[in-house]
Amino acid sequence: MSALVDGFGRAHRDLRISLTDRCSLRCTYCMPEQGLPWLPRPSMLSTDELVRVAAVLVGMGVSEIRLTGGEPLLRADVVDVVARLAALEGPHGRPELSMTTNGLRLAELAAPLRAAGLSRVNVSLDTLDPDRFARLTRRDRLPDVLTGLAAATEAGFAPVKVNAVVMREVNDDEVVDLVRFALRHGYQMRFIEQMPLDPDHRWDGAAMVTQAEILGRLRSAFRLTPLDGRGAAPARLWQVDDGPGTVGVIASVTAPFCAACDRLRLTADGQLRSCLFARTETDLRSAVRAGADDDAIAGAVAACLAGKRAGHGIGEPGFVQPERPMSAIGG
Ligand code: SAM
Ligand code: SF4
Repeated sequence: MSALVDGFGRAHRDLRISLTDRCSLRCTYCMPEQGLPWLPRPSMLSTDELVRVAAVLVGMGVSEIRLTGGEPLLRADVVDVVARLAALEGPHGRPELSMTTNGLRLAELAAPLRAAGLSRVNVSLDTLDPDRFARLTRRDRLPDVLTGLAAATEAGFAPVKVNAVVMREVNDDEVVDLVRFALRHGYQMRFIEQMPLDPDHRWDGAAMVTQAEILGRLRSAFRLTPLDGRGAAPARLWQVDDGPGTVGVIASVTAPFCAACDRLRLTADGQLRSCLFARTETDLRSAVRAGADDDAIAGAVAACLAGKRAGHGIGEPGFVQPERPMSAIGG
């Protein structure tokens, strides 16, 4: 099957799979209080269908799979999904499996997920203040995230990464505390610039907290030394003081990494997207349900990739936010 190279010569090795669009939190920047119109169950890929599509993509050269959502740990058979994906094989061997989660169910699932073949875990945590957490996520569940983080370390995940979206007058005063917390527990802290993917389309680039601002705040407390060798990884890393702790910033807006992008995304309802900000999707679910063979699915994947644009275009004239919010695409 053909290699996953797009029209700009970028080889694609990383597949993000959304296991569900549903979530146990309601982060204000991601979901309205009442939730979103969820995908109807019959439209979602069954686990057999999901593994089938992933197998074709691994056969075409995908070597890393990240599970996300919505909240991936809400999928009832998530451990089985991990085990089946971990057993796939392609030209680069077995895929490395990772997950981005809000951590609420990690206390019970970290060990079984690790045993099933999950290699890495990123936990999203925007604040360490319980009241602020309850306001920001509309659920009073900070202790569950902290317990989940500890369970991830206990299960042998290393390093556990902690992701925070930095927002003005919401949590931008907490970046130093979050780094101190991560250093104390051996986690790697990573800050994310907020992207225009909110459901109510209220993102404001002028108000966004930039990488430069985040670094400025961190430099008031730490000596930061840039580390090289980022490759296709979205985060730029800095060593904190004399190390070994590091901090990362994912500056998708002010320092886009599109030129090195190696990612494809599969939504929970089986639509393949070449970019978070793509305006079109390729319907692999219909292909699978119509009995397409592997070559036909691979052909549809190649056509999707052929349409991948050079960059996301945020801030350029004519930029239009995708219709699906982040939680329905898979962050
Ligand atoms: N529910 C899981 C979680 O929160 O980790 C996985 C899905 S969530 C959509 C994945 C990541 O996207 C989280 O770290 C979240 O904070 C981040 N995110 C959501 N909306 C975002 C936005 N508009 N800009 C940047 N990151 C965003
Ligand atoms: Fe749920 Fe993650 Fe969105 Fe928060 S960021 S509402 S945890 S999908």
